Amino acid sequence: MRREKLVAGIEAGITSMHGLIAHGRGEAFDYLIGERTMDSALQATEVAAAILVSAKKPVLSVNGNVAALASAEMVTLSRLIDAPLEVNIFYRTEARVKRIKELLERSGAKRVLGEMPDARLASIEHARGLVARDGIYTADVVLAPLEDGDRCEALIAMGKKVIAIDLNPLSRTSRYATVSIVDDVQRALRNIITIIRGKNPDRNADPDSILANYDNNRILRAAINEIAGRLVNLG
Ligand code: ATP
Repeated sequence: MRREKLVAGIEAGITSMHGLIAHGRGEAFDYLIGERTMDSALQATEVAAAILVSAKKPVLSVNGNVAALASAEMVTLSRLIDAPLEVNIFYRTEARVKRIKELLERSGAKRVLGEMPDARLASIEHARGLVARDGIYTADVVLAPLEDGDRCEALIAMGKKVIAIDLNPLSRTSRYATVSIVDDVQRALRNIITIIRGKNPDRNADPDSILANYDNNRILRAAINEIAGRLVNLG
């Protein structure tokens, strides 16, 4: 189903060809993970949900794969925490940005940024570094599913907290992010939504104190150990 959604995304001019290749990388890891949410990923998801709720200015970044695979979930989450969505694509064309924005709006999005970027991430090549000043550029917390390592590093260098959703625990994005959820984007987003609805995390909490006892490297090591343990048992 995910492959079909991506092919439909290509046909609709929403997803890029490079997105298909990125999906293949993710899918390979999902086989190793067992196409389920690992315990370590759930721990990271709980922390991510708490940070998103308590952030002063959270922004949810949407690229072509995320739009094809999980636009409904991204819109639900944005409404739940009252955060804007920002179309933020690696292979930027204005037509593709517009189509993703329209898809999100048809899915019920209230505020979608990214069509007229007016700021740039330092050290990132022009088109790939374009962002909205009132969005990602000034956000304190950015949810960046399927992000590229350079941009994740640039966001961290700007002092932001980055929540990554990436099936590859070895990617640079997973390594750089503040909180890395090693899970499929749709599963992870559904879990975040369920946690926020069910547990109603404290909106007045301080994101830094939530992170005080959180060790992202430990979570990534646990993810790799869970994958390795599963392979040993299957072998
Ligand atoms: P990096 O630059 O972070 O080292 P990369 O070169 O693979 O990694 P991208 O292609 O921009 O960077 O990242 C896409 C990432 O998204 C890949 O790590 C891939 O494993 C992951 N991915 C692909 N499909 C999914 C999915 N459905 N859910 C979660 N992650 C996914």
